[in-house]
Amino acid sequence: MVNKLSILGSTGSIGTQTLDVARKLNLKVTALSAHSNIKMLEDQIREFKPQVAVVFDESRADELKLNIKDLDTKVYSGMDGLLYAATLDDCDLVVNSVVGMVGLKPTLASIEAKKNIAFANKETLVAGGALVMDAAKRNGVTLFPVDSEHSAIFQCLQASPPEKALKKIILTASGGPFFGKTTDELKDVTVAQALNHPNWSMGAKITIDSATMMNKGLEIIEAAWLFDVSPDDIEVVVHRESIIHSMIEFVDNSVLAQLGLPDMRIPIQYAITYPHRYESPVESLDFSKISSMTFYHPDYETFKCLSACKKAIKRGGIIPAVANGANEIANKLFREDKISFLEIGELVSSAVDNFAYKEAQSLSDVLKADKQAREYVYNLVN
Ligand code: NDP
Ligand code: MG
Repeated sequence: MVNKLSILGSTGSIGTQTLDVARKLNLKVTALSAHSNIKMLEDQIREFKPQVAVVFDESRADELKLNIKDLDTKVYSGMDGLLYAATLDDCDLVVNSVVGMVGLKPTLASIEAKKNIAFANKETLVAGGALVMDAAKRNGVTLFPVDSEHSAIFQCLQASPPEKALKKIILTASGGPFFGKTTDELKDVTVAQALNHPNWSMGAKITIDSATMMNKGLEIIEAAWLFDVSPDDIEVVVHRESIIHSMIEFVDNSVLAQLGLPDMRIPIQYAITYPHRYESPVESLDFSKISSMTFYHPDYETFKCLSACKKAIKRGGIIPAVANGANEIANKLFREDKISFLEIGELVSSAVDNFAYKEAQSLSDVLKADKQAREYVYNLVN
Protein backbone atom coordinates (compact mmCIF):
# COMPACT_ATOMS: atom_id res chain seq x y z
CA MET A 1 0.00 0.00 0.00
CA VAL A 2 0.93 3.63 -0.47
CA ASN A 3 2.82 4.89 2.54
CA LYS A 4 4.05 8.44 1.88
CA LEU A 5 1.86 11.27 0.58
CA SER A 6 2.71 14.65 -0.89
CA ILE A 7 -0.43 16.81 -0.58
CA LEU A 8 -0.88 19.84 -2.82
CA GLY A 9 -3.55 22.06 -1.28
CA SER A 10 -3.45 20.52 2.20
CA THR A 11 -5.28 23.43 3.87
CA GLY A 12 -8.44 23.12 1.75
CA SER A 13 -11.57 21.07 2.17
CA ILE A 14 -10.17 18.02 0.34
CA GLY A 15 -6.68 18.59 1.80
CA THR A 16 -7.85 18.57 5.43
CA GLN A 17 -10.04 15.52 4.83
CA THR A 18 -7.06 13.78 3.21
CA LEU A 19 -5.06 14.47 6.38
CA ASP A 20 -7.91 12.96 8.38
CA VAL A 21 -7.63 9.80 6.26
CA ALA A 22 -3.80 9.83 6.62
CA ARG A 23 -4.13 10.14 10.40
CA LYS A 24 -6.49 7.17 10.65
CA LEU A 25 -4.43 4.99 8.28
CA ASN A 26 -1.16 6.03 9.90
CA LEU A 27 0.34 7.27 6.62
CA LYS A 28 3.41 9.50 6.42
CA VAL A 29 3.05 12.92 4.84
CA THR A 30 6.28 14.13 3.27
CA ALA A 31 5.01 17.39 1.70
CA LEU A 32 2.24 19.83 2.52
CA SER A 33 1.22 22.94 0.62
CA ALA A 34 -1.08 25.96 0.84
CA HIS A 35 -1.72 29.12 -1.07
CA SER A 36 -1.43 31.53 1.87
CA ASN A 37 -3.03 30.03 4.98
CA ILE A 38 0.25 29.71 6.90
CA LYS A 39 -1.47 29.42 10.28
CA MET A 40 -3.24 26.18 9.36
CA LEU A 41 -0.20 24.99 7.43
CA GLU A 42 1.97 25.44 10.51
CA ASP A 43 -0.43 23.35 12.63
CA GLN A 44 -0.32 20.64 9.96
CA ILE A 45 3.50 20.80 9.81
CA ARG A 46 3.79 20.45 13.59
CA GLU A 47 1.54 17.40 13.51
CA PHE A 48 2.83 15.59 10.40
CA LYS A 49 6.48 16.77 10.32
CA PRO A 50 6.86 16.71 6.54
CA GLN A 51 10.19 17.13 4.80
CA VAL A 52 8.80 19.95 2.67
CA ALA A 53 6.17 22.68 3.02
CA VAL A 54 5.16 24.98 0.18
CA VAL A 55 3.47 28.38 0.42
CA PHE A 56 2.41 29.42 -3.06
CA ASP A 57 2.16 33.08 -2.05
CA GLU A 58 5.84 34.04 -1.89
CA SER A 59 5.17 36.96 0.45
CA ARG A 60 3.93 34.60 3.21
CA ALA A 61 6.68 31.99 2.87
CA ASP A 62 9.33 33.91 4.86
CA GLU A 63 6.89 34.39 7.71
CA LEU A 64 6.29 30.64 7.85
CA LYS A 65 10.05 29.99 7.76
CA LEU A 66 10.47 32.15 10.87
CA ASN A 67 7.52 30.56 12.65
CA ILE A 68 8.83 27.03 12.19
CA LYS A 69 12.55 27.65 12.56
CA ASP A 70 12.62 25.12 15.43
CA LEU A 71 11.64 22.34 12.95
CA ASP A 72 13.48 20.49 10.16
CA THR A 73 10.80 21.11 7.52
CA LYS A 74 12.14 23.05 4.51
CA VAL A 75 9.89 25.83 3.20
CA TYR A 76 9.58 26.55 -0.53
CA SER A 77 7.34 28.97 -2.40
CA GLY A 78 5.68 29.83 -5.70
CA MET A 79 5.16 27.53 -8.65
CA ASP A 80 8.71 26.18 -8.27
CA GLY A 81 7.84 25.09 -4.77
CA LEU A 82 4.64 23.43 -5.89
CA LEU A 83 6.53 21.62 -8.67
CA TYR A 84 9.09 20.44 -6.13
CA ALA A 85 6.35 18.97 -3.91
CA ALA A 86 4.64 17.48 -6.98
CA THR A 87 7.79 15.55 -7.89
CA LEU A 88 9.26 14.85 -4.45
CA ASP A 89 11.44 11.71 -4.45
CA ASP A 90 10.30 10.68 -1.02
CA CYS A 91 6.61 10.11 -1.75
CA ASP A 92 4.68 7.35 -3.44
CA LEU A 93 1.43 9.18 -4.14
CA VAL A 94 0.73 12.83 -4.88
CA VAL A 95 -2.66 14.12 -3.75
CA ASN A 96 -3.59 17.00 -6.02
CA SER A 97 -6.25 18.98 -4.19
CA VAL A 98 -5.43 22.54 -5.21
CA VAL A 99 -8.31 24.47 -6.70
CA GLY A 100 -8.15 25.74 -10.27
CA MET A 101 -5.97 25.65 -13.35
CA VAL A 102 -2.90 26.40 -11.23
CA GLY A 103 -2.80 22.62 -10.77
CA LEU A 104 -2.02 21.88 -14.41
CA LYS A 105 1.78 22.28 -14.33
CA PRO A 106 2.16 20.32 -11.07
CA THR A 107 -0.06 17.54 -12.47
CA LEU A 108 2.08 17.23 -15.59
CA ALA A 109 5.25 17.35 -13.48
CA SER A 110 4.02 14.56 -11.17
CA ILE A 111 3.18 12.44 -14.19
CA GLU A 112 6.59 13.00 -15.81
CA ALA A 113 8.16 12.02 -12.46
CA LYS A 114 6.08 8.80 -12.68
CA LYS A 115 4.07 9.54 -9.57
CA ASN A 116 0.53 8.22 -9.32
CA ILE A 117 -1.96 10.90 -8.34
CA ALA A 118 -5.04 10.93 -6.13
CA PHE A 119 -6.78 13.49 -8.26
CA ALA A 120 -9.29 16.09 -7.05
CA ASN A 121 -8.20 19.10 -9.13
CA LYS A 122 -10.81 18.77 -11.92
CA GLU A 123 -10.13 22.17 -13.54
CA THR A 124 -6.76 20.84 -14.70
CA LEU A 125 -8.30 17.90 -16.49
CA VAL A 126 -11.00 20.06 -18.04
CA ALA A 127 -8.48 22.53 -19.42
CA GLY A 128 -5.63 20.18 -20.27
CA GLY A 129 -7.33 16.79 -20.59
CA ALA A 130 -5.55 15.64 -23.76
CA LEU A 131 -2.11 16.64 -22.48
CA VAL A 132 -2.64 15.08 -19.06
CA MET A 133 -4.07 11.79 -20.31
CA ASP A 134 -1.39 11.44 -23.01
CA ALA A 135 1.35 12.06 -20.47
CA ALA A 136 -0.22 9.59 -18.02
CA LYS A 137 -0.39 6.90 -20.69
CA ARG A 138 3.17 7.53 -21.83
CA ASN A 139 4.51 7.33 -18.26
CA GLY A 140 2.32 4.46 -17.04
CA VAL A 141 0.83 6.70 -14.35
CA THR A 142 -2.67 6.31 -12.88
CA LEU A 143 -4.97 9.15 -11.85
CA PHE A 144 -7.13 7.79 -9.03
CA PRO A 145 -10.30 9.89 -8.98
CA VAL A 146 -11.17 11.69 -5.77
CA ASP A 147 -14.25 13.50 -7.09
CA SER A 148 -17.12 11.48 -5.58
CA GLU A 149 -18.90 10.83 -8.92
CA HIS A 150 -15.71 9.73 -10.64
CA SER A 151 -14.72 7.58 -7.70
CA ALA A 152 -18.17 5.98 -7.90
CA ILE A 153 -17.70 5.26 -11.61
CA PHE A 154 -14.17 3.97 -10.97
CA GLN A 155 -15.49 1.69 -8.21
CA CYS A 156 -18.30 0.37 -10.45
CA LEU A 157 -15.83 -0.21 -13.29
CA GLN A 158 -13.96 -2.70 -11.11
CA ALA A 159 -16.74 -5.11 -12.12
CA SER A 160 -16.00 -4.73 -15.85
CA PRO A 161 -15.34 -7.74 -18.04
CA PRO A 162 -12.02 -7.84 -19.96
CA GLU A 163 -13.69 -6.66 -23.18
CA LYS A 164 -15.14 -3.16 -23.56
CA ALA A 165 -18.70 -3.47 -22.26
CA LEU A 166 -19.48 0.00 -20.92
CA LYS A 167 -22.53 1.58 -22.57
CA LYS A 168 -22.88 4.81 -20.64
CA ILE A 169 -22.04 6.75 -17.53
CA ILE A 170 -24.83 8.21 -15.41
CA LEU A 171 -23.45 11.13 -13.43
CA THR A 172 -25.62 12.08 -10.49
CA ALA A 173 -25.98 15.72 -9.44
CA SER A 174 -27.49 17.07 -6.25
CA GLY A 175 -28.89 20.03 -8.17
CA GLY A 176 -27.40 22.39 -5.58
CA PRO A 177 -29.26 25.00 -3.55
CA PHE A 178 -31.25 26.34 -6.52
CA PHE A 179 -32.75 23.17 -7.98
CA GLY A 180 -36.21 23.84 -9.45
CA LYS A 181 -35.78 27.63 -9.49
CA THR A 182 -36.62 29.67 -12.58
CA THR A 183 -34.32 32.24 -14.18
CA ASP A 184 -36.55 34.95 -12.76
CA GLU A 185 -36.18 33.56 -9.24
CA LEU A 186 -32.39 33.42 -9.61
CA LYS A 187 -31.93 37.07 -10.66
CA ASP A 188 -31.16 38.40 -7.21
CA VAL A 189 -29.70 35.45 -5.32
CA THR A 190 -26.88 36.37 -2.96
CA VAL A 191 -23.44 34.86 -2.46
CA ALA A 192 -24.54 33.56 0.96
CA GLN A 193 -27.53 31.76 -0.60
CA ALA A 194 -25.32 30.26 -3.30
CA LEU A 195 -22.80 29.09 -0.69
CA ASN A 196 -25.50 27.19 1.21
CA HIS A 197 -25.16 23.73 -0.36
CA PRO A 198 -27.81 21.24 0.80
CA ASN A 199 -25.63 18.08 1.06
CA TRP A 200 -21.89 18.77 0.82
CA SER A 201 -19.46 20.97 2.74
CA MET A 202 -16.76 22.11 0.28
CA GLY A 203 -14.45 24.99 -0.65
CA ALA A 204 -16.08 28.25 -1.80
CA LYS A 205 -15.24 27.95 -5.52
CA ILE A 206 -16.71 24.49 -6.00
CA THR A 207 -19.75 25.38 -3.87
CA ILE A 208 -20.60 28.22 -6.27
CA ASP A 209 -19.87 25.86 -9.19
CA SER A 210 -22.43 23.49 -7.70
CA ALA A 211 -25.04 26.25 -7.46
CA THR A 212 -24.55 27.20 -11.14
CA MET A 213 -24.19 23.51 -12.11
CA MET A 214 -20.86 24.42 -13.73
CA ASN A 215 -19.50 21.74 -11.42
CA LYS A 216 -21.54 19.08 -13.21
CA GLY A 217 -20.44 20.45 -16.57
CA LEU A 218 -16.79 20.26 -15.48
CA GLU A 219 -17.47 16.72 -14.27
CA ILE A 220 -18.85 15.63 -17.65
CA ILE A 221 -15.56 16.73 -19.22
CA GLU A 222 -13.55 15.17 -16.37
CA ALA A 223 -15.37 11.84 -16.85
CA ALA A 224 -14.92 11.91 -20.63
CA TRP A 225 -11.14 12.15 -20.15
CA LEU A 226 -10.72 9.85 -17.16
CA PHE A 227 -12.77 7.02 -18.58
CA ASP A 228 -12.26 7.61 -22.32
CA VAL A 229 -16.00 7.93 -22.97
CA SER A 230 -17.75 10.07 -25.56
CA PRO A 231 -19.67 12.97 -23.98
CA ASP A 232 -22.76 11.62 -25.77
CA ASP A 233 -22.53 8.57 -23.53
CA ILE A 234 -22.56 10.59 -20.32
CA GLU A 235 -25.98 11.34 -18.89
CA VAL A 236 -26.62 13.72 -16.01
CA VAL A 237 -29.38 12.85 -13.55
CA VAL A 238 -30.38 15.11 -10.68
CA HIS A 239 -30.56 13.02 -7.52
CA ARG A 240 -31.38 15.35 -4.65
CA GLU A 241 -30.32 13.07 -1.81
CA SER A 242 -26.65 12.57 -2.92
CA ILE A 243 -26.72 8.92 -1.80
CA ILE A 244 -26.01 7.38 -5.21
CA HIS A 245 -22.71 8.96 -6.22
CA SER A 246 -22.94 7.85 -9.88
CA MET A 247 -23.73 4.80 -11.99
CA ILE A 248 -22.56 2.93 -15.05
CA GLU A 249 -24.61 0.97 -17.53
CA PHE A 250 -23.14 -1.99 -19.43
CA VAL A 251 -24.13 -3.11 -22.93
CA ASP A 252 -26.55 -5.66 -21.44
CA ASN A 253 -28.40 -2.75 -19.74
CA SER A 254 -27.31 -3.83 -16.28
CA VAL A 255 -26.70 -0.74 -14.14
CA LEU A 256 -24.22 -0.58 -11.26
CA ALA A 257 -24.28 2.21 -8.69
CA GLN A 258 -22.05 3.19 -5.77
CA LEU A 259 -23.81 4.46 -2.66
CA GLY A 260 -22.77 5.99 0.62
CA LEU A 261 -23.31 9.01 2.83
CA PRO A 262 -22.08 12.23 1.20
CA ASP A 263 -18.65 12.33 2.85
CA MET A 264 -15.52 12.86 0.74
CA ARG A 265 -13.38 10.73 3.04
CA ILE A 266 -14.67 7.57 1.32
CA PRO A 267 -13.51 8.53 -2.20
CA ILE A 268 -10.32 10.12 -0.85
CA GLN A 269 -9.45 6.96 1.06
CA TYR A 270 -10.19 4.68 -1.89
CA ALA A 271 -7.97 6.81 -4.16
CA ILE A 272 -5.16 6.29 -1.66
CA THR A 273 -5.67 2.62 -0.77
CA TYR A 274 -6.90 1.22 -4.12
CA PRO A 275 -7.41 -1.69 -4.66
CA HIS A 276 -7.67 -2.29 -0.91
CA ARG A 277 -10.40 -1.17 1.44
CA TYR A 278 -10.09 -0.30 5.11
CA GLU A 279 -12.45 0.90 7.81
CA SER A 280 -13.28 4.56 7.46
CA PRO A 281 -14.57 7.25 9.82
CA VAL A 282 -17.72 7.64 7.69
CA GLU A 283 -20.95 6.29 9.17
CA SER A 284 -22.65 3.41 7.45
CA LEU A 285 -25.70 4.02 5.31
CA ASP A 286 -28.94 3.45 7.24
CA PHE A 287 -31.57 2.63 4.62
CA SER A 288 -34.39 2.94 7.14
CA LYS A 289 -33.52 6.65 7.40
CA ILE A 290 -33.63 7.23 3.62
CA SER A 291 -37.34 7.48 3.00
CA SER A 292 -36.96 7.97 -0.76
CA MET A 293 -34.52 8.58 -3.57
CA THR A 294 -35.60 10.98 -6.31
CA PHE A 295 -34.34 11.51 -9.88
CA TYR A 296 -34.96 14.39 -12.32
CA HIS A 297 -33.72 15.72 -15.63
CA PRO A 298 -31.42 18.73 -15.24
CA ASP A 299 -32.67 22.13 -16.42
CA TYR A 300 -30.20 23.02 -19.19
CA GLU A 301 -32.01 26.29 -20.00
CA THR A 302 -31.78 27.85 -16.56
CA PHE A 303 -28.37 26.42 -15.67
CA LYS A 304 -26.49 27.73 -18.68
CA CYS A 305 -23.06 26.62 -17.43
CA LEU A 306 -24.12 23.01 -17.80
CA SER A 307 -25.07 23.41 -21.45
CA ALA A 308 -21.97 25.54 -22.10
CA CYS A 309 -19.72 22.72 -20.84
CA LYS A 310 -21.50 20.15 -23.00
CA LYS A 311 -20.96 22.42 -25.97
CA ALA A 312 -17.32 23.01 -24.99
CA ILE A 313 -16.37 19.33 -24.89
CA LYS A 314 -18.14 18.72 -28.20
CA ARG A 315 -16.28 21.60 -29.83
CA GLY A 316 -13.06 20.24 -28.30
CA GLY A 317 -9.53 21.65 -28.69
CA ILE A 318 -9.00 24.70 -26.50
CA ILE A 319 -12.73 25.32 -25.89
CA PRO A 320 -13.00 23.39 -22.59
CA ALA A 321 -9.99 25.40 -21.34
CA VAL A 322 -11.84 28.55 -22.41
CA ALA A 323 -14.99 27.48 -20.52
CA ASN A 324 -12.95 26.71 -17.42
CA GLY A 325 -10.91 29.93 -17.52
CA ALA A 326 -14.04 32.05 -18.07
CA ASN A 327 -15.74 30.32 -15.16
CA GLU A 328 -12.79 30.70 -12.78
CA ILE A 329 -13.04 34.47 -13.22
CA ALA A 330 -16.85 34.71 -13.33
CA ASN A 331 -17.11 32.56 -10.19
CA LYS A 332 -14.59 34.80 -8.41
CA LEU A 333 -16.32 38.02 -9.54
CA PHE A 334 -19.65 36.71 -8.24
CA ARG A 335 -18.07 35.86 -4.86
CA GLU A 336 -16.70 39.41 -4.77
CA ASP A 337 -20.23 40.76 -5.43
CA LYS A 338 -19.12 42.28 -8.75
CA ILE A 339 -21.53 40.37 -11.00
CA SER A 340 -24.89 38.67 -10.48
CA PHE A 341 -25.41 34.94 -10.19
CA LEU A 342 -26.96 34.62 -13.66
CA GLU A 343 -24.10 36.51 -15.25
CA ILE A 344 -21.79 33.59 -14.49
CA GLY A 345 -23.69 31.38 -16.96
CA GLU A 346 -23.97 34.18 -19.51
CA LEU A 347 -20.23 34.88 -19.42
CA VAL A 348 -19.20 31.22 -19.67
CA SER A 349 -21.66 30.62 -22.55
CA SER A 350 -20.49 33.72 -24.34
CA ALA A 351 -16.85 32.62 -24.13
CA VAL A 352 -17.68 29.12 -25.37
CA ASP A 353 -19.70 30.54 -28.29
CA ASN A 354 -17.27 33.25 -29.33
CA PHE A 355 -13.82 31.68 -29.16
CA ALA A 356 -12.56 30.16 -32.37
CA TYR A 357 -11.57 26.49 -32.33
CA LYS A 358 -7.86 25.77 -31.95
CA GLU A 359 -6.09 22.54 -31.17
CA ALA A 360 -4.82 22.06 -27.62
CA GLN A 361 -1.66 20.17 -28.36
CA SER A 362 0.82 21.85 -26.08
CA LEU A 363 0.88 23.33 -22.60
CA SER A 364 1.32 26.76 -24.14
CA ASP A 365 -1.86 26.31 -26.27
CA VAL A 366 -3.82 25.58 -23.10
CA LEU A 367 -2.25 28.33 -20.98
CA LYS A 368 -2.84 30.86 -23.76
CA ALA A 369 -6.51 29.89 -24.15
CA ASP A 370 -6.97 30.07 -20.39
CA LYS A 371 -5.40 33.54 -20.22
CA GLN A 372 -7.46 34.83 -23.15
CA ALA A 373 -10.70 33.50 -21.63
CA ARG A 374 -9.92 35.25 -18.35
CA GLU A 375 -9.24 38.53 -20.18
CA TYR A 376 -12.42 38.08 -22.23
CA VAL A 377 -14.52 37.90 -19.07
CA TYR A 378 -12.77 40.86 -17.44
CA ASN A 379 -13.31 42.94 -20.58
CA LEU A 380 -16.99 42.06 -20.81
CA VAL A 381 -17.57 42.89 -17.15
CA ASN A 382 -15.69 46.20 -17.16
P1 NDP B 1 -10.46 24.77 -1.15
O1 NDP B 1 -10.64 26.13 -1.63
O2 NDP B 1 -11.10 24.34 0.13
O3 NDP B 1 -8.88 24.45 -1.01
C1 NDP B 1 -7.99 24.72 -2.03
C2 NDP B 1 -6.57 24.40 -1.60
O4 NDP B 1 -5.68 24.83 -2.61
C3 NDP B 1 -6.13 25.14 -0.33
O5 NDP B 1 -5.13 24.39 0.30
C4 NDP B 1 -5.54 26.43 -0.90
O6 NDP B 1 -4.64 27.08 -0.01
C5 NDP B 1 -4.84 25.90 -2.13
N1 NDP B 1 -4.73 26.89 -3.20
C6 NDP B 1 -5.66 27.77 -3.61
N2 NDP B 1 -5.21 28.53 -4.62
C7 NDP B 1 -3.95 28.13 -4.84
C8 NDP B 1 -2.93 28.58 -5.72
N3 NDP B 1 -3.11 29.58 -6.59
N4 NDP B 1 -1.74 27.94 -5.67
C9 NDP B 1 -1.53 26.94 -4.80
N5 NDP B 1 -2.45 26.48 -3.95
C10 NDP B 1 -3.64 27.08 -3.97
O7 NDP B 1 -10.90 23.80 -2.33
P2 NDP B 1 -11.51 22.32 -2.25
O8 NDP B 1 -10.70 21.49 -1.32
O9 NDP B 1 -12.97 22.41 -2.06
O10 NDP B 1 -11.29 21.82 -3.74
C11 NDP B 1 -10.02 21.44 -4.24
C12 NDP B 1 -10.20 20.75 -5.59
O11 NDP B 1 -10.96 19.56 -5.39
C13 NDP B 1 -11.00 21.60 -6.60
O12 NDP B 1 -10.53 21.37 -7.87
C14 NDP B 1 -12.43 21.04 -6.46
O13 NDP B 1 -13.18 21.21 -7.64
C15 NDP B 1 -12.14 19.56 -6.19
N6 NDP B 1 -13.19 18.88 -5.46
C16 NDP B 1 -13.55 19.29 -4.20
C17 NDP B 1 -14.55 18.63 -3.51
C18 NDP B 1 -14.89 19.02 -2.10
O14 NDP B 1 -15.68 18.32 -1.46
N7 NDP B 1 -14.34 20.09 -1.56
C19 NDP B 1 -15.29 17.52 -4.11
C20 NDP B 1 -14.81 17.14 -5.41
C21 NDP B 1 -13.81 17.81 -6.06
P3 NDP B 1 -5.15 28.21 1.06
O15 NDP B 1 -5.92 27.44 2.09
O16 NDP B 1 -3.91 28.80 1.60
O17 NDP B 1 -5.99 29.17 0.30
MG1 MG C 1 -18.21 15.85 -7.64
